[in-house]
Amino acid sequence: MRALRLREWQSEPELVEVPDPTPGPGQVVVRIGGAGACHSDLHLMDEFEPGTVPWNPPFTLGHENAGWVHALGDGVTGLSVGQPVAVFGAWGCGTCARCRLGIDPYCENPSAAPVPSGGGGLGLDGGMAEFELVPHARHVVPLPEGLDPVQAAPLTDAGLTPYHAVRRSWPKLPPGSTAVVIGVGGLGHVGVQILKATTAARVIAVDTRAEALRLAEECGADRTVTSGPTAAEEIRDATGGRGADVVLDFVGADSTLALGVAAARTVGDLTIVGIGGGTVGVSFFSVPYELSIATTYWGSRPELVEVLDLGARGLVRPSITTFALDDALDAYRQMRDGTLEGRAVIVP
Ligand SMILES: [Zn+2]
Ligand SMILES: [Zn+2]
Repeated sequence: MRALRLREWQSEPELVEVPDPTPGPGQVVVRIGGAGACHSDLHLMDEFEPGTVPWNPPFTLGHENAGWVHALGDGVTGLSVGQPVAVFGAWGCGTCARCRLGIDPYCENPSAAPVPSGGGGLGLDGGMAEFELVPHARHVVPLPEGLDPVQAAPLTDAGLTPYHAVRRSWPKLPPGSTAVVIGVGGLGHVGVQILKATTAARVIAVDTRAEALRLAEECGADRTVTSGPTAAEEIRDATGGRGADVVLDFVGADSTLALGVAAARTVGDLTIVGIGGGTVGVSFFSVPYELSIATTYWGSRPELVEVLDLGARGLVRPSITTFALDDALDAYRQMRDGTLEGRAVIVP
């Protein structure tokens, strides 16, 4: 089969011929129907170096995948060949306390995982290929009726990651509350949809680009604010001076984190989802009282089931541009240039 492989750090991936995978006991091979291209793949290609993460190339890219069950290893029950499925992309040890809750991204025994702190497309072969080997059947989640693999693929990361970030703040988002989404890209626009679908909060979207703010409006944002020196003041004005109950930063740069703090309300949440590498100083006087600041990484398997349900019901619909496997590098090029519309999904 053909696969888009990262051969070494800081290089362009290459489309090459590799052997078809065969499932061992307990494993599943999925025929890929859609593989989302993620901004974090650019970090793998451009910035990562030996030691950045506990795994190394070569591997096939693609960590947000869906398709159909192609082959089942010995002992796998409850799945059937041809069944449409999504792949939960973080592959932990399966037995630690976090993995037992389905929170594999926070696996506490990573040395016992198929690859430490990674998954398919993150150290092991992912879905930018005709087939993907999934090392344990628990990571294969049946698609609900009404959701096809192309729509489902980005939900496994671009949907699941903002869903997890929003869900943890649900208690702070009753009617009358305000949520701010900073960065309306591949994840942020889905974050707006998830806030509208699962909370009664007013949603304010912030971005530097006019087209991103238009996308936010299409996704249901109640108000948009252009990122810049007056953004925090605009958000405070829009909230009667109180600030936003929840700020979700999908960029994570110094400037967006500073905006998040300046726009947040007391007892609020500032959740850092974007891996922009910025920092924010916390002292008694520098942040609103009882503001909780947290990073999140991906989401849990039960949450994936929930976000797929939202997708099947049309409540969460990532904006998608499809590319053939031959054109996958174009998808990344457009992402790098900032000209990509919504989420790129590779359809092998
Ligand atoms: Zn990703
Ligand atoms: Zn674990």
